[in-house]
Parts: sequence; C-alpha cells; structure tokens
Amino acid sequence: MEYSLIADAYEKIEATTKRLEMTDHLVRLLKETPKDVIDKVVYLTQGKLYPDFIGIEIGIAEKLAIRAVARATGHSEKEIEEDIRETGDLGETAQKFLRKKTQVSFFSKPLTVERVYETLDKMARSTGAGSMDLKINFLAGLLSDASPKEAKYVVRTVTGSLRLGIADMTVLDALAIAFGGGKETREYLERSYNISSDLGRVAKTVAEEGIESIKEFEVSLGEPIRPMLAERLGSPTEILEKLGGKCTAEYKYDGERIQAHKKEDQIILFSRRLEDITDQYPDGSELTRKHVKAKEAIIEAECVAVDPDTGEMKPFQELMHRRRKYGVKKAMEEYPVSLFMFDALYVDGKDLTLEPYPVRRQHLEKIIEQTDHVKVSEHIITDDPEELEKFFEKAVENGCEGLVCKSVNGDSVYQAGARGWLWIKYKRDYKSEMTDTVDLVVVGAFHGRGKRAGTYGALLLAAYDPDEDVFKTVTKCGTGFTDEDLKKLPKMMEKYRIPHRHPRVISTIEADVWFEPTVVIEAMGAEITLSPIHACAMDVIRKDSGLAIRFPRFTGNYRLDKSAEDATTVQEVVEMYRGQLKKVAG
Ligand code: ATP
Repeated sequence: MEYSLIADAYEKIEATTKRLEMTDHLVRLLKETPKDVIDKVVYLTQGKLYPDFIGIEIGIAEKLAIRAVARATGHSEKEIEEDIRETGDLGETAQKFLRKKTQVSFFSKPLTVERVYETLDKMARSTGAGSMDLKINFLAGLLSDASPKEAKYVVRTVTGSLRLGIADMTVLDALAIAFGGGKETREYLERSYNISSDLGRVAKTVAEEGIESIKEFEVSLGEPIRPMLAERLGSPTEILEKLGGKCTAEYKYDGERIQAHKKEDQIILFSRRLEDITDQYPDGSELTRKHVKAKEAIIEAECVAVDPDTGEMKPFQELMHRRRKYGVKKAMEEYPVSLFMFDALYVDGKDLTLEPYPVRRQHLEKIIEQTDHVKVSEHIITDDPEELEKFFEKAVENGCEGLVCKSVNGDSVYQAGARGWLWIKYKRDYKSEMTDTVDLVVVGAFHGRGKRAGTYGALLLAAYDPDEDVFKTVTKCGTGFTDEDLKKLPKMMEKYRIPHRHPRVISTIEADVWFEPTVVIEAMGAEITLSPIHACAMDVIRKDSGLAIRFPRFTGNYRLDKSAEDATTVQEVVEMYRGQLKKVAG
C-alpha cells in the first residue's frame, strides 16, 4: 500500500474539526487499505506502532530528527532550526525543504506503508551504543524517498507530534461503518476492544472475518482487559438501593491495581493503565505463579505494600518505592507486597467476563490458595445498611480506603473499560491529619516476623478511661521503632508480662502477649477513625463503634515520667476526633 494514501487522508482529517467528517475520511482510508496491513494503518493513525501494552514506542528526540531532515534535504541543521522558529513544526519545515530539493532521484520507488512501518519499527527497537546514528540513518533514508507531504507526516509520527485527534471511539465508529454493516454494530467492536485493548487486532478481525467474528471475540492471555471502574455514593442506604437491595461489599484496598495474566509458569502483570509492570513486582509475579491454582488465568488484584515485620498494610504512598527500574531487589525487601485478589476474568480456557459476579468470585475462590501474602478480598454479602457501615469502619480500621460494593444480580457482568453502577465505592469524604501526639499505655504485643522474629511486631496500645478506671485499646502500633528499641522492648516489658489480659484492660483484640498496664509511650497517628474493633469510646460517637488511631508511629519517647493513669484519656481521643471533623467541615 502506498504511504501517500495515508498522507492524503491525514491531510483531510487535519483540515476538519468535525468528528463526523473525520470519521468519513477514516472510513475511506480503511476501505482503501489492504486487509493484511489494516492493523498497521490503525496503529499509525494513532501515532503508534503497537497497542500501548506492548511498550514499544515510536519517538526520537527532535534534535535527532533535525539531523535526519538535514541529511535528507542537503541543508544544514542550523537552517532547519531557524525555519522551525517560523513554522513552529519540524514536519512543516521538512515538507518545505523537500519541496526545494533540486536533486530529484528518478529511480526512487514510491514509499509504501510496509516500508515506513518496518523502518519505524527498527528505529523504535534499536537501543544502546550507536543506536542514535542508526536511527538518523533510517529516518534520513525514508525522507530521501518521500514526497514533501509524506515527509511531513513521517517526521510528525517519529517525533510524537502527529496529533490528528483520532480517538479510539472514532476508529471504532469508522470500523463499524466500513466493515460492520453500520454504526449500530459499534457496541460489538467496542466490547472486543475493551477486552483486548488492541485496536489493530480488532480492525484486522472485522476486516478479514466480519462482524460475526467480532461478536464471538473472547479475552486472550497476554492482552490486558480494560479495567471495570466504580461509581461512588455517600451512604450505605443509597448504595443498597442502587444495587437492588443486596450486594457484596469488599474491602477497598489502598494499593495498586494489577491484572495478572498467568500461562503455566509465565506471568505478566498489567497496571491500571495497562502498562506491563511485571518487572516492578517480581514478588507479585512469584505469588501469582505459586498460588493461583490454574494453568491459565486472568485475575485482578490490589497489590498492597505491607510492613515486612508486622504484616500490616501500609498506605498507598509506600508503593512509590517500587516504581523504579533499578534496585528493585532492595525495594522488594524493604517494601514487600501482598496481593488481594478481587476478580477472575478468565480461567483455563473459559472467558468469565460475561458471567455474573458471584460466579466469577466462585471461580476466584476456587483457584486462589490463600497465604500470608495472597488473599481473596475480604467481603460480606448483606442487605443491611448498618452491617455495611460496620464493615466499612472495619475496612478503614484495617488500613483500607473503604469499600467497593458490587452487584450480585444476574446482569453483574464485568464491564470492561466502563465506569458503571455495578460497582459502587464507599470512601470517607474527609481526610485530615492528627496534629497532636498521644501518650498511650502498652497493654499487649504481637510477635514479630521476618527481621523482627524474636521481638515484637507491634504493640497493642490503650487510652485511659478515668470514669471506669480502665484502659481501652485504641491502636496497634508497629512503626517508628529503631533496631535498638526492638532489642530492648522484650527485656523492658518482661517484668510486666502476665499470662492473660489484665482485668483493667478492655479489648476485643487477642494479643499474643499481655502486660500489666504500666508503660506509657508517645505516638503520632495519621487520623482518628470510627472502628468496630477498638474499645476506646465504644458507643460514644456511634452505636457498636469505637475510635481508632490509624497509621500510628512511635515517636521514640518512652514516657517514663507518666504513670498509666496519666496517659491520654478516652475523652481526649473523642475530642480530637470531633476537632478533626470540625476542621474538615470548616
Ligand atoms: P480510586 O482513586 O478511588 O481508586 P479509581 O478511578 O482508580 O479510583 P475506581 O473504579 O473509582 O478506581 O475504584 C475502584 C478501584 O479500587 C480499583 O481500580 C482498584 O484499584 C481498587 N480496589 C481495591 N480493592 C478493590 C476491590 N475489592 N474490588 C475492586 N476494586 C478494588
């Protein structure tokens, strides 16, 4: 296919701002395109060589492109740079200078789409020493054989400035009209795109095999499915109403969404934006390989940073340490992750995306072998707003953002690529920082793991309730302790150790070790939240809820000057909570 056909179409598309006209030009181009290169033409019109998830990008620095234009036109780089100041676009400049070119090579063959594509592909793949020269040579070669108009678009393509404004949806419209029999077939094309993320493959399938083949399109291992997203509502009652009176409520884990594709031992992890992030999470891959008990599967999970010593979930920001190319191994040790699986989209040859959620969840539970680091998302099925609220508080308390409530009706399919009402998120509307430290009583402890084996992983801390003269748990704190603290803690606490919960300690949590309430330490938390687990202020703000300090950190201060009865009181925690709310409201 001659590249001039593409260049002509681009020119027309560029000249219009109307989407319908744009679609018409695209339809004409697609119809003119031989079917075997239609995928390439589709990628090229979007300024790409492959679907995004492949990760091979066109794109060279403008400086290199200038050098190539100089070489192809016989002008100096300086002249070209000066002209760009006028035109504002290297593409225009290339076109202009090629028009001026006096030596026309009479033997030059017309530029074909195949040649342009292959050359751009070679450019994109050449890396390392000498690759710059190679790229310039490839580009200069193409430009030497290009017409001025072709040169303009080749240059824009390689410098990433094609910007025709052809959205995915416009391509789908054009495909529906050109090969599907009309615009009304777009929904099938859209679904096939949503489950493959590959417009080129969709185009080739519909062009070569027709719309019937598109209707039977299924998910395919290695091609990311565009993620289903959630709407949002502010109360359990509204949520239940919207979901038909009953739903599955799941913890909304605060991490990075991952779509894992497993084929025997081979694992690919895709991000929410469908980038291949397998290399960032060797541990995530290993966990998937080992604990997804299916030969082939596509599952979705939230990947959450956990404290290696306590196993507790860390806030999302901690995962930023994993966004790197080098030093992944070290980051992996310092910031290990757990996977919380929440959907199964494909299992051993069966596409599950059109199955209702309860069926998908059943498949998920069947194939996941749960371990410390691999869990199926925590959930309840409920029709009771109060139960939903309690579960929400528990989720927040455990380091989650809130809940994702999911439809369990017959039509609760996986809506790839859409934000819809089959999933509704329920998050807190306020977020505020605790500004004061608190002094809390150490009433229990949990055994550490990993680096903390032999010492404590976390301490169970309580506030003092002077009315009842008891200590009520308010948080579990495992952060902020130095190695020295950790070494000294078991020794320091040994003399207060008792075989069971102290009668003056009120706790629904079972600690591994209990202490006489004596030692006071200073801690700082991120915020105070309602909690069904902690005893502090139980039933004060809301029935069956207490208050908890979230993401607490030991400041390093042992308040040896304070007795347990001098610790922060329950009333003070209540006031801090109310103050925090007021601050947000104000
Ligand atoms: P947000 O910033 O709230 O995560 P978002 O636009 O990324 O918004 P939404 O669709 O609004 O995504 O919310 C769902 C997100 O919550 C998913 O993308 C996923 O990363 C995360 N998540 C955590 N736990 C679950 C779960 N159990 N089920 C579904 N999604 C979950």
